[in-house]
Amino acid sequence: MINLSTNIENLNRIGKSRAKSFQKIDIKNVKDLIYYFPIKHKDRSKIYSIKEAKKQKSATIKASIKTIQNHRSYKAKTLITEVLVSDKTDSLKIVWFNQGFLGKILQKGKDYYFSGEIKSDTRYGFQMQSPVYEKADKNNPIHTARLVPFYPLTSGITQKQIRFLTNQALLAIKTLKDWLPKIIKNKYNLMDLDSALKEVHFPKNKILLQKAKKRLKFDEFFLIHLKNHIIKEKRKQKSAPSIIFKEKNTRKFVKSLNFDLTDAQKKAAWNIINDLKKNIPMNRLLEGDVGSGKTIVAIIGILNVVLSKFQVGYMAPTEILAKQHFNTLTNKLKNHSIALLTNNYSRIFKNNKIKELNKDSLIKKIKKGEILIIIGTHALIQKKIKFNKLGLIIIDEQHRFGVKQREKLNKKSGLKNLYPHFLSMSATPIPRSVALTLYGDLDLSVIDQMPPGRKKVETKIIKPEGRLDVYSFVKSEIKKGRQVFIICPLIDPSDKLGVKSANQEYEKINKEIFPKNKIGLLHGKLDSKEKQKTIENFEKGKIDILVSTTVVEVGIDIPNASIMIIEGAERFGLAQLHQLRGRIGRGNHKSYCFLFTNKPSNEKTLNRLNALLTSKNGFELAKKDLEIRGPGEVFGQKQSGFRNNLKIAELSDTKLIEQTKQAVNYLFQNNLKIKDYPELQKRVEKVNLSPHLE
Ligand code: ADP
Ligand code: MG
Repeated sequence: MINLSTNIENLNRIGKSRAKSFQKIDIKNVKDLIYYFPIKHKDRSKIYSIKEAKKQKSATIKASIKTIQNHRSYKAKTLITEVLVSDKTDSLKIVWFNQGFLGKILQKGKDYYFSGEIKSDTRYGFQMQSPVYEKADKNNPIHTARLVPFYPLTSGITQKQIRFLTNQALLAIKTLKDWLPKIIKNKYNLMDLDSALKEVHFPKNKILLQKAKKRLKFDEFFLIHLKNHIIKEKRKQKSAPSIIFKEKNTRKFVKSLNFDLTDAQKKAAWNIINDLKKNIPMNRLLEGDVGSGKTIVAIIGILNVVLSKFQVGYMAPTEILAKQHFNTLTNKLKNHSIALLTNNYSRIFKNNKIKELNKDSLIKKIKKGEILIIIGTHALIQKKIKFNKLGLIIIDEQHRFGVKQREKLNKKSGLKNLYPHFLSMSATPIPRSVALTLYGDLDLSVIDQMPPGRKKVETKIIKPEGRLDVYSFVKSEIKKGRQVFIICPLIDPSDKLGVKSANQEYEKINKEIFPKNKIGLLHGKLDSKEKQKTIENFEKGKIDILVSTTVVEVGIDIPNASIMIIEGAERFGLAQLHQLRGRIGRGNHKSYCFLFTNKPSNEKTLNRLNALLTSKNGFELAKKDLEIRGPGEVFGQKQSGFRNNLKIAELSDTKLIEQTKQAVNYLFQNNLKIKDYPELQKRVEKVNLSPHLE
């Protein structure tokens, strides 16, 4: 008797080596097999008489074998297995190529289902070629004569083998407990788990297949939401330092800015202030399009924390960005002590002066609590760094970091029995419903409004023949004092792809196209001093054109740069193009973005790029990208740690995401607790979320 944890080696007709092939797709036991879902079904349920089948291009027939022969083809290269079959209406020749073993397997006089293509134009008249075959004496065919499942394959495994094994595995389904509470199943009209698992592989009909899928998709989102709900509840039992709201100072600070906050910024700042006041750790995601002004909102939080004499750790994904934040903060918070700590920088700002410091003494100062604001890169989570009283952790562009890094910071806080508040920021425009799934344990503030006066970046798709016109336009803009980004997909040339590389493009731009202008080069392989120098020169206007890879994607703020050329635009996702484009249109000058396409692009690509011309809202674009490219590509669903949790459901299914979220809330209405549902509790404990995209 098999059960869910039976190793698949113990199933009928599977050898050790085949079991190894299955391990490649993470199938080790019966349960893995049951949860390995088909990608599609082919409808082979209609059974034709041979007479009718001859009018079809492909068909399934039920017929008995009259003769079987193997012979070599004319040129003797191919072994042909030829079988004559018949039913009450007619007879038909069936052939297979180079499958000599069939002569031994197929039995004369027995009934079989055959499912395959029918050719009428062969030299020998009607033939069915290389059909799938299956004995018809079984009452439950799995390869033919039904809706037949097709699975994602790997080398060494065939569809027939998976079906055969899955069919056996499904015998263990009796031992699987349905953990979804009845009230949920009833309310949302969901199938029982065992039926759903059977039907999703071997459905009786299409309606039941849909119902089965719905149930299994529901499960996946429901479990994620539930897990998030539990994590959130747990967090509420932890304590954090309560940061009092210094209203007067905050007002004074906001007044000192040379702009008014947008309503969305005020709201987000207010969310943060209120979270900080509570003595449970804040866990908030601040989402806002590029250029929506997240930094200033973060600074309002920082101000309140340091006024309460707690430290703030502010982590950015790149040195360039960390340095930029350091500059911004030293500018805006002149009365406070601020440190910059990265691989190459170790400096402090105190009493309005910037001082370079050796790393060890800076680390000491942090430990003693002499510096309250510490900005840095990954360098902040090195072992030797300890904080004194870390009240707030801020992670910028958080999709670049994992949860582990955040836990590391938590442990260094220097607080006893307390946890720091946590704020993460992201410009990855994720639709709200998706954010609910990916970051459901976080509270969400969205800045959905741009500062006033931002001009729309005029965006154009440029075919190869339009290149020169753009270059001459760019020349005239440079004459007016503007600066230009040229973005390339790669650093070095790659023969295989024929894609523009930064190095190559730099040479060409420098020598051939813009010989009179000052050109800079920026990419990830340069050492960081060089990178910083280049950025500084660009900032100061000493460089007219910066040829760069996507390292400029995150956060760089250079208002005088008003033109961006993106080479090989078709190679980027919409959200990424939008991020890139967000580097321009930051100042008072009219800005232009030129999307260069290398090949004559297909309609789908142009369609996708076109979305950028009409929409300047990252959220809208992300939604479109999801529709066009699918979540796998957009979110890297595979790498994102969601592969194990989302096998059948898709992040683009916003309706189901909302519905399952409601279902979790519904379950806990009337003061019910997870303890009241022991089966569910067991199940959800196994859910492992590492939702942060790497
Ligand atoms: P992001 O949300 O992409 O991190 P930043 O915080 O870098 O955006 O802000 C982009 C630019 O907009 C900065 O130069 C900032 O000073 C400016 N800014 C922020 N808020 C406002 C506002 N309410 N009005 C005008 N400019 C603003
Ligand atoms: Mg930013």
